[in-house]
Amino acid sequence: MSIKTTNPATNKVEKSFDEMTDKQVDNAIELSNKTFQDWKKTSYKERATLLHKVADLMREKKTELAKLITLEMGKVIAQSEGEIDLSASILDYYADNAEKFLADKKLSPEEGKAFVRSSPIGVLFGVMPWNFPFYQVVRFAAPNIMVGNTILLKHASIVPQCAIAIDELFKEAGAPEGLYTNLMISGKRSTALVDDTRIKGVSLTGSEGAGASMAEAAGKNLKRSVLELGGSDAFIVLADADIDQTVDLAIFGRMNNNGQSCVASKRFIAVEEVADEFLEKFTAKIKALKVGDPMDPSTDVGPLSSQEALDNILDQVKRFESAGAKIVVGGKRALDEGAFMQPTLLTNLNREEETFKEELFGPVASFYKVKNEQEAIDLANDSPFGLGGSIYTKDIEKAIKIADQIDSGMVFINSPTWTQADLPFGGTKRSGYGRELSEQGIHEFVNKKLIRVS
Ligand code: NDP
Repeated sequence: MSIKTTNPATNKVEKSFDEMTDKQVDNAIELSNKTFQDWKKTSYKERATLLHKVADLMREKKTELAKLITLEMGKVIAQSEGEIDLSASILDYYADNAEKFLADKKLSPEEGKAFVRSSPIGVLFGVMPWNFPFYQVVRFAAPNIMVGNTILLKHASIVPQCAIAIDELFKEAGAPEGLYTNLMISGKRSTALVDDTRIKGVSLTGSEGAGASMAEAAGKNLKRSVLELGGSDAFIVLADADIDQTVDLAIFGRMNNNGQSCVASKRFIAVEEVADEFLEKFTAKIKALKVGDPMDPSTDVGPLSSQEALDNILDQVKRFESAGAKIVVGGKRALDEGAFMQPTLLTNLNREEETFKEELFGPVASFYKVKNEQEAIDLANDSPFGLGGSIYTKDIEKAIKIADQIDSGMVFINSPTWTQADLPFGGTKRSGYGRELSEQGIHEFVNKKLIRVS
C-alpha cells in the first residue's frame, strides 16, 4: 500500500490506507460535477459562512491537527500550530474579501455599455505536497470555493491523515457532499485524471517532474493550470546590514520546516565587507541548533519528511562535496533512528558548477562570498529557479533597485520570503507559473465573461 503514515521521527509505519478504485474516483468526479451545478448558484454569503465555519473548526482543533502534521511529516510542533493558524486566516480572508475581488468590472468602451463578470468554471483538481499539508490545500481550495468552483484534492501519499482531516472539517462545517473531496490515489494515477472532461482546471504544488507531467496533460487538454514548484532563493547580505539580526533571519529562512520549503532561503550571498563576520556567526548558530523529536517544544530542527528524502539529500551533499564544496558544519545523518539530518553549511561553491544549481530541500545552506552588489545580483539570477529571494540592508531605496533586477516572483527586503493571505505567492522560470493568495490568486480559475449591452 503506497498511501501511509510513517512517522519520520521513528520511521515506524503508523497506519496504511487503501487507494480508491477507478470506479470510486469516477463517482467522486461525477458527484463533484453535480454539486458544481448547485454550488455555482449559491450566494457569496453562503460560501463565506461555510469557510468561516471551517476556519473556526480548524482553530478549535488546532492542537490535534498540529499533532497530525508533526506525526506525518515531522514539522516541529510550534510551527505545525502556526500552520493551522495561517490556514484559518486564509479561509477567513477569502470569506471576507472574495465578493469584492469578484465584483463586476465596468468597462468604458467606445460604443455601447459593457462589463466583465467573474464566473466559476467547474470542477478543479488539486495535487498537493506534504510540506505544508494544511496551508497548501487551503490556499488553493478557499479562493476557488468562493468563486463557485468545486474541488477534488489529491494529497501527498505520506500525509493521508491530514488529507482526511481536511475533508472531515469541510463535512463538519456543513459543506454539501461533493464540494470538497479527498481523492486517495497515488501521484502516478493523477495525470490521467486531467483527461477527464468534467475536470476544468488543475493546480499542482510539488516537484518539477510532477509539475511538468500535470502541465503536459493540461496543455494537451487545453485546460488552465497553476504550478508552484521548487526554488533556490538567494539571501543577499549587503555591507550595511545589521549582521546579528540578519544571521537570526538566515537561520529562520533556511531551517524553518526542517529546511523543506520551496521559499526557504537556500543560497546565502554576502558582499566581501561583511562576508567573514556573517559566515562566522551563521556557522556558530547552525552548530547550536537542537535536532530532535519534533513533538518536543525545545527542538529547533526535526526530521526530514521521510527516509527517502533524507537519503536524497545526503546523496546530494556527497555530490556537492565531490564537485568541490566544503562542508563547514554537519553533512551527515543525525540521531540513531528516524530521518534526521545534521543542519549543514556548505562553502567553497563556484558558480560554474552545474551541480550547485540544484535545489537543496532540507536543512542545508550554501554560502557564497561576492565582491560587490552586482555580483550578488548575477549570482542570485544564475539559477533555473525564480521563486523568491531576500535582501538585507538599511538602504531601502537601494534594496528596491536590486529587487527590480532579481528574476523571481517575490523579493522580500529585510526578511526571508514568507507568506500571508493578502500577499501574492508564485514564481517564474522553473519555479512554475500562476499566482496564489491575495486578490490575484482568486482569478486563476475564473471565466472573465464579457457582457455587452447595445
Ligand atoms: P512530488 O512532486 O513527488 O509530490 C508532490 C505531489 O505531487 C504529491 O501529491 C505527489 O503524489 C504528486 N505527484 C508525484 N508525481 C506525480 C505525477 N507524475 N503526476 C502528478 N502528480 C504527481 O514531491 P516529493 O514529495 O517527491 O518531493 C520531491 C521534491 O519536490 C522536493 O525535493 C522539492 O524539490 C519538491 N517539492 C516542492 C514543494 C513546494 O512546496 N514547492 C513541496 C514538495 C516537494 P504522491 O505523494 O502520491 O507521489
